[in-house]
Amino acid sequence: MKHRIPNNRFYRLGALLLALVLALSGLAGCSAEEQQDIVILYTNDVHCAVDDDIGYAGLTAYRKWMESKTTYVTLVDCGDALQGDTLGTVSQGAYLVDVMNEVGYDFAVLGNHEFDYGMEQLSALLETSEAQYLGCNIRYTGQGSSAVSALKLYEMVSYGDTEVAFVGVSTPESIVKSTPAYFMDESGNLSMIFTAAAERSCTRRSRTRWTSAGKRAPTM
Ligand SMILES: [Zn+2]
Repeated sequence: MKHRIPNNRFYRLGALLLALVLALSGLAGCSAEEQQDIVILYTNDVHCAVDDDIGYAGLTAYRKWMESKTTYVTLVDCGDALQGDTLGTVSQGAYLVDVMNEVGYDFAVLGNHEFDYGMEQLSALLETSEAQYLGCNIRYTGQGSSAVSALKLYEMVSYGDTEVAFVGVSTPESIVKSTPAYFMDESGNLSMIFTAAAERSCTRRSRTRWTSAGKRAPTM
């Protein structure tokens, strides 16, 4: 939510991310080969700080190391990755999308500052992102087409026999915590609104399956 935060963007991965490890696979009684921990790595409020702390390079290395321990590793960004420093400003967020594509994020959520480059640029950024952005409480109300209208509510991921739902929720306060003009078209009409999740069509849900080799099968 803040424009800048101190050196905790990558959040002491060794401790906190392990705290987020969801061992949901019914491990009791399984052999070592059968144990497949589900590991969810996340970043939050990176704000273009690509080299702070362990940085994206360290995160990439950590992810690879974790993938050597378990098949099921998923990387998520929880928002405010694209704005906050020079890299974001000079590229309108595009350089950060490039970096995140290289890191290999699986899912991402729109933070309040993801809207700072305007709705048209946000649509362009979403189209180039290889991470699947999720947003169950965002409804596009603007004219014409926009990748914002194609945000998925959530995605079900199957890790072997275990299913995990990744749900995208963005704070409705984004409109007032940022600048309302970022959300408006040239006529001053809001191009998107925040809604109750139930108002969004469930047809945008999707499903991803991790195979035993850890690769994603085509989304259904
Ligand atoms: Zn922030």
